[in-house]
Amino acid sequence: MSSVTYAKSIPVIAEPDVLVCGTGLAGLGAAVSAARQGASVWAVDRMGFAGGFFTNVIGSAFDGFVYEETGRPVVGGLVFEMLERMGVIPPGSGGDHAYNVNGDFTEVEKHPERLIPRCDPERFKRAADEILLGAGVHPLFHTQVADVLVEAGRIDSVILSNKAGLVAIRPKMVIDATGDGDVAAWAGCPYEQAESLQPMALHFRIAYVELTFELRRKCAAVLERARTAGRIGLYGGPWPATFSGRDIYFNAVRTPGDCTNPEDWTQAEIRGRADAWRMFELWQQELPEFADAYFFTSGPTAGARESRRIVGDVTLTVDDIRQARRFDDVIVLGAWRLDRHPQDDAGYHEQPVVPPYDIPYRTLLPQGVDNLWVAGRCHSATSEALASSRVTANAMGMGQAAGTAAALAARGGYGSREVPIVDLQDRLVQAGCILDPTISTQSHTGKVL
Ligand SMILES: Cc1cc2nc3c(=O)[nH]c(=O)nc-3n(C[C@H](O)[C@H](O)[C@H](O)COP(=O)(O)OP(=O)(O)OC[C@H]3O[C@@H](n4cnc5c(N)ncnc54)[C@H](O)[C@@H]3O)c2cc1C
Repeated sequence: MSSVTYAKSIPVIAEPDVLVCGTGLAGLGAAVSAARQGASVWAVDRMGFAGGFFTNVIGSAFDGFVYEETGRPVVGGLVFEMLERMGVIPPGSGGDHAYNVNGDFTEVEKHPERLIPRCDPERFKRAADEILLGAGVHPLFHTQVADVLVEAGRIDSVILSNKAGLVAIRPKMVIDATGDGDVAAWAGCPYEQAESLQPMALHFRIAYVELTFELRRKCAAVLERARTAGRIGLYGGPWPATFSGRDIYFNAVRTPGDCTNPEDWTQAEIRGRADAWRMFELWQQELPEFADAYFFTSGPTAGARESRRIVGDVTLTVDDIRQARRFDDVIVLGAWRLDRHPQDDAGYHEQPVVPPYDIPYRTLLPQGVDNLWVAGRCHSATSEALASSRVTANAMGMGQAAGTAAALAARGGYGSREVPIVDLQDRLVQAGCILDPTISTQSHTGKVL
């Protein structure tokens, strides 16, 4: 491949204490918590809104938020606050409820008495705008992180690309919440990528059809028959959910590939749209419930479950998760199933349930750079462990911890590894985060399970 060398002087548009790259689940948590700790914060995203998976891909399930055996929350803090702002729970009541796992509709069928922590994308967008502005964060949308300048083990500047051209921000501290570890990778930090990545997926929404437990089973049966007959290719689930009761969004498309390869991501969009329409047409042909159904949107974009996993000072393993190993530097708990989507098989896959487990601070610290944190699905975990720790509530919890730590470091003038852990944990608990797993393993009525 030939190459060109490109050099240009570009304007520095801001020099904040903290720059958050990506305003998805982790980035939102990071930006708000850093600003609430008194730091000046800029937060950039390539999309025109915050919310990451919930708004870029369309999702409803705050997975990783609840230990499904008890229905009790394992992540609090900003996750509770977002649910309050969307009107899902009354203010201040986060710890009072038993919650359902809405990432798996069979759980909703099993536990009708539990509250569904549903995230509607438009409500999430509005709540995200409000929480960012309320905390004093300076958001900058339609702005893509394009490169990084590193000097003496610190990020000096982050290069951004937007409609103004190329611009730079020179922050004291940087949080990489891009999901793909773009900043850390481009800063030269080591990372790993599984040979067989979890597949990408384009979600789609169908209007004027009512979601029932029975319809879910029928939709699955139609796809299974079509696959056996060679009428469709790969698909996942299907996992349906509803926002209004008269619409369904489907997590059902399954496209193998690596989103850090733009060719693969393009194919995930194009193949994803073709597959989504094919599924819709099959359901329309075979299910009377789809008589009035209308395919009203896909996307906005195909999403990636897994790409780069940055190598941190500690790497979370599947044994740490299964054995609920305790870490002195725990900053958020996880409890989502070991949910590793296969890229070469259709339908439902095995998802072993795990106990509430610790995610340590050191999984947020990329090696070789002192003023950078990674939070969310690019944190340091093996591919098997990431199958659990990658989900939304845990990403937001990791972001809350990274933002709090970055603000402390900016104020104290020290690096990410000098952050006083006990002080950080105290601040997280004061902000409503849950770091004690016994809170989650007790039933709603206080019985220890
Ligand atoms: C198809 C699919 C279904 C899923 N279903 C569920 C589910 O039901 N429940 C659940 O809890 N989890 C689910 N997940 C997992 C979940 O989406 C993620 O793991 C979680 O969102 C991770 O949060 P994050 O903040 O790390 O990344 P994201 O939420 O992806 O946020 C990353 C943000 O960074 C921005 N960004 C990326 N690169 C750049 C750049 N270079 N410059 C600027 N901005 C950038 C993106 O626009 C985005 O806003 C699903 C994932 C996929 C792909």
